[in-house]
Amino acid sequence: MSNHLFDTLTAFIPSLDKVFLTTGDGVTMTYAQVLKRSAQYAGAVKKLGLKPGGRVAVQVEKTPDALMLYLGTIRAGGVFLPLNTAYTPAEVAYFLEDAEPVVFVCDSKNEAALSDIAARTGAVLQTLCAAGTGPLASLADSMPEQFENCPREDDDLAAILYTSGTTGRSKGAMLSHANLASNSQTLAKYWRFTEDDVLLHALPIFHTHGLFVATNCLMMAGGSLLFLPKFDLEAVLRLLPGATSMMGVPTFYARLLGSEAFTRDLVRHFRVFISGSAPLSAEVHKAFEHRTGHKILERYGMTETNMNTSNPYDGDRRPGTVGFPLPGVGLRIADPKTGREVAQGDVGIIEVKGPNVFQGYWRMPEKTAQEFRADGYFITGDMARMDTDGYVSIVGREKDLIITGGFNVYPAEVETLLDEIDGVAESAVIGVPHADFGEGVVAVLAPDPGATPDEAFILAALSSKLAKFKQPKKVHVLDHLPRNTMGKIQKKVLRDQYKGDFE
Ligand code: ATP
Ligand code: MG
Repeated sequence: MSNHLFDTLTAFIPSLDKVFLTTGDGVTMTYAQVLKRSAQYAGAVKKLGLKPGGRVAVQVEKTPDALMLYLGTIRAGGVFLPLNTAYTPAEVAYFLEDAEPVVFVCDSKNEAALSDIAARTGAVLQTLCAAGTGPLASLADSMPEQFENCPREDDDLAAILYTSGTTGRSKGAMLSHANLASNSQTLAKYWRFTEDDVLLHALPIFHTHGLFVATNCLMMAGGSLLFLPKFDLEAVLRLLPGATSMMGVPTFYARLLGSEAFTRDLVRHFRVFISGSAPLSAEVHKAFEHRTGHKILERYGMTETNMNTSNPYDGDRRPGTVGFPLPGVGLRIADPKTGREVAQGDVGIIEVKGPNVFQGYWRMPEKTAQEFRADGYFITGDMARMDTDGYVSIVGREKDLIITGGFNVYPAEVETLLDEIDGVAESAVIGVPHADFGEGVVAVLAPDPGATPDEAFILAALSSKLAKFKQPKKVHVLDHLPRNTMGKIQKKVLRDQYKGDFE
């Protein structure tokens, strides 16, 4: 029977003996084992009461078995719903009440804290521990190594993935089999993944980047993963020689550059480094090229849409841009109020349409309706401009746009200049309440190791480069900028922290 996503993911298995995954400890899993183990997990979730369309919520550490649980859920016709391992029991309660899963799988160490919540929401609780063992793994052990896949069509849901909650409460994005399959197919081809690829995988698997972009792409190409539980600098440096490719958030690349052991020789053989989930600063892009000879390939996407744009594989990978709309993705830069396309080169909101775009927010029909135009384009909330060559540059989120004295300030423009100043490692530009201007521009910086940039020095460096209204009225220096697990700067936190700056 056809199961759209699973069939697409397993269409090009080069040979059953081919290694799909190797852990940091050198444990391997072949494609034959993937088929067997995912069949066992499909059997296990079915035995626990999963019916087609039912949800399997999962908050577990990153292990090969956790991936097999994802594939097993898809094979059993379920909807996979991964949760960030950093969520507290109170947060997990919100997601379980919202999603009403049939099965909830948590880490054995959190069982006591979560069992009441699972019982209250009617979910069968199962556990899997960080070693990939535990009662659910044992249940899977007892299941047959074959499974008759539940038939699933293009439009059937494969996953509900909650957004990162950077701008507000996380929303559940409903993703269909075809949303996931089509985007992975496009990316694998665009980025030229083949069975010869070994991808260093240090991303979490509760987010679109690590779960769908990285895992689906490699499986679809018949390649292999070097599967690390998290980004550990020492482990990454040790394993880079055995990889051909890597996908990461910008902080991964900044951390590699911070190590003297990260040399040109170490990655001379590499095929491609890909970055996304947060803006990669032009500074890091250039420093990376200087150090390694490789130009990082930056792309842009979101939970709701999968990937939308990418720098080219062969052509010019331009620092500070997210490249072109991917094949099959309709993209326009529109006036946020009217949805009409802006003049070429002007800033507007990114709107997208295509097989990659989700089915709507789970149980939020009004919010879903608000975020789509009448002609089917999804309003991403990201502001950008497109240059004459078609490259898209993101200037910030609409919610982070600063309006000061009636003028718009796009944070990315100021951040790019700040990042170029000697002694500045990274920056975030925010707007906070100001009695005269509505909002006042505030810069928050993290210095390079050993550097001590002060406000006067920073302001002097910007004064000839930016119109007066764009110049920060206040500069704060912190050891590190607050970031979440995906390396996204938490501007909400900074706005709260500095909201009294102009009182
Ligand atoms: P929430 O929607 O809950 O506020 P979030 O938008 O951070 O959280 P995600 O779906 O994980 O949740 O992230 C998508 C967002 O990440 C995009 O809308 C965009 O703002 C940002 N993003 C992703 N890739 C890039 C990139 N290459 N450059 C700049 N921003 C990026
Ligand atoms: Mg978002």
